[in-house]
Amino acid sequence: MPVSKKGYIILPGLFFFLLIFLLMFLTGPALQAEEITIFYHGEDVTEKLSPQEDEGNIIVQARGLADLLDLELDWQEALETITLENSDDTLRLMIGSSYYQVNSRTESSQVPAQLIDETGYVPLEEVVRGFGYLTDEEEGEYYIFQPETRIHEAYWSAEEQQLVLDMDDITPYRLNPTDDPNTIEVEVDKATLSDDFIDNISDRNFTLRVRESANEARLRFIISSQNPIPYRRDGGIEERAGNLVINFLPMLVNISWDSDDFLEIEANAEMERPEIFLFDNPRRMVIDIPDLMLSEVDLELEDNDYVKDVRLSQFKDDPVVLRVVLELKEDSYLGIAEDVEPNKLVFRPTEENIVRDLDYKPGEISFVTSTDITPELFTLGDPPRLVINMLNTSRDNDMASSLEIDDDRIKEIRTSRFDSQTVRLGAELQESSGYNWQSEEREDGSFLHTVQLENRIRDIAVSQQDQMLGLRIQLSGDAEYEVRRFSHPHRIAVDISGMDLENGLDDFELPEPTGIIEEIRAGIITTGGERKFRIVFELNDYHSHQVLTDEPSSEILINLATREIQEFEDIVVLDPGHGGFDPGAVGPNGLTEAEVALDISHRAAALLQESGFDVIMTRSDDSFVSLSERAEIANRAGAEIFVSVHSNAAARPAVGGLETYYGRGRESDSYYLARTMQNSMVNKLELTDRGVKTDRFTVIRETEMPAVLLEIGFLSNLEEERLLRSSSFREKAAESIAEGIQKYRDSILEGED
Ligand code: ZN
Repeated sequence: MPVSKKGYIILPGLFFFLLIFLLMFLTGPALQAEEITIFYHGEDVTEKLSPQEDEGNIIVQARGLADLLDLELDWQEALETITLENSDDTLRLMIGSSYYQVNSRTESSQVPAQLIDETGYVPLEEVVRGFGYLTDEEEGEYYIFQPETRIHEAYWSAEEQQLVLDMDDITPYRLNPTDDPNTIEVEVDKATLSDDFIDNISDRNFTLRVRESANEARLRFIISSQNPIPYRRDGGIEERAGNLVINFLPMLVNISWDSDDFLEIEANAEMERPEIFLFDNPRRMVIDIPDLMLSEVDLELEDNDYVKDVRLSQFKDDPVVLRVVLELKEDSYLGIAEDVEPNKLVFRPTEENIVRDLDYKPGEISFVTSTDITPELFTLGDPPRLVINMLNTSRDNDMASSLEIDDDRIKEIRTSRFDSQTVRLGAELQESSGYNWQSEEREDGSFLHTVQLENRIRDIAVSQQDQMLGLRIQLSGDAEYEVRRFSHPHRIAVDISGMDLENGLDDFELPEPTGIIEEIRAGIITTGGERKFRIVFELNDYHSHQVLTDEPSSEILINLATREIQEFEDIVVLDPGHGGFDPGAVGPNGLTEAEVALDISHRAAALLQESGFDVIMTRSDDSFVSLSERAEIANRAGAEIFVSVHSNAAARPAVGGLETYYGRGRESDSYYLARTMQNSMVNKLELTDRGVKTDRFTVIRETEMPAVLLEIGFLSNLEEERLLRSSSFREKAAESIAEGIQKYRDSILEGED
């Protein structure tokens, strides 16, 4: 609320208080209801309204109420009528009459409007409700509030496993922690139930209770169940299409042996692929199903030749895993069937299996089996290994017994006979890693299995940049990701796909929250049927954010603006490298770096000036300017950004591409500019991305503002020299510089939501 408005309320409030005080003093004790306190949107307005009690009903000064609710007040002496109105509604109250008019309707009030010491008083309840406010009274405290949203319905969406609160607008909300796992509590502020609110949640599974807390127009939805309610803190509650949804995990509903010789496990919604293990002594199959909740199911299986007994447990709570253990009969093997309904897992008897065609491509091991096997997959540490046990299996004669690899993920893969009925495939890893296993049936009836090693988080860092806060997430490999923004409380969530969900959170520490960051959390969520890593940055303030990286990438960079109104002078210094007697690098056909840098800089300056930037060039012709002088020009001008334009050269003619340098040790003020510029060039120029680097070049060391040095292509590379000679490429390079600068500036001033 702006300060001026607050002042407005306080001054008349004081005035009225003095007036009432004087009136009381002059006329003796009135019916002043001292024990009544009136709150308007949580603010005590008792003095302003000067409430009196009349047979248990509150009347208040008409003038004070009109002022509070921003109403026009009119007193018609002849009719002894008080008229209160705003653009929507009109109320007329006659002194001494318990009938009053709301627009064209006549209503009756508990207590009439009246004159006390020549001051008009009106019944509080009737008037505030007449103008669409809600009221509540609790132990002498009277609350007036106007909800910002109405909740029309609470219902259960079986298809999406969601509880939905259908509401007009999203207002602040939260999931309150409860001690009882069978109960969840959703709190929504500034909300009221609509008159025709429908509870479509309460059924045989759930019971809904709604508690209203009038003080802040706060609603609490308390949902209880016979069973633990499976929701998560992050991703547990979300805004969707203007409604609040609470996402649930699926639940087991049935497990049975079908007379057609298969075992079926059924859930009330789509299930994740399980992890399956086979063990001897006693022979048993362990099926771990992620994100599935236990419920009461009948465990009596129909008599069969394969499974003796079945046991169930909620093996893990966070993340949730349901474990099914099948006690197998002698010599019986079960394999998981593909192509069944997504809410079912089907296991069929299987036969002796042959494994062949062991293969590897970066991060991915593959092999072929003759039957649809359910291998036992696990990892071992020290040295880190991935092990695949295939029961009832033998090796094909042609299959390689080992593969030497030695890339950055895997050293070697070997196969061996583990015991009389098991082939073991072991991959020696460079470092421990999770994996994803996939298999598909091929046309010849065999099955192709692939094991993909999973990505991990290497580091999460928060740094205060020049005019913003930078978030940087580094991964061990490229990943798809999505950056989402939520409010109430403000937060930025980064959902990363294809991550090692088991161990991916082990090896790094979350950084300390700083600046507008209140808290940093990491966890696993299920969204769109996929389990992802979610990193949440909870903010105590939000202005804008911008994602600087394009997916897939192994680095995710996000800028957070830290202030509402930011200073950005729009002064940019462009520094064309070299010049005068210093040509810089010279290409095989004689093109000089000094000439290329000057032309690209001129073109970029023109584009930036068109967008309203004040551009200063350290040299505008082929003259020599010393390095310190260049930095000094920028410092004197009080520039916001310094961009030095160069092209590179290397001894090997094949080397080419784009690089951006920032000053060593200047992560805190130049790194994000460097990333932005490098991304902009890479997107536009289609040359090799050689990355962002750091060095001690004078111009990026002595400058006092965020400063970078661009190396646009290699003049020593014949093809890139040709490009650098063409005006179309120079224009594109200039555009990429201007766009990068523009993007950096926007991320400070206002990003995209
Ligand atoms: Zn240079």
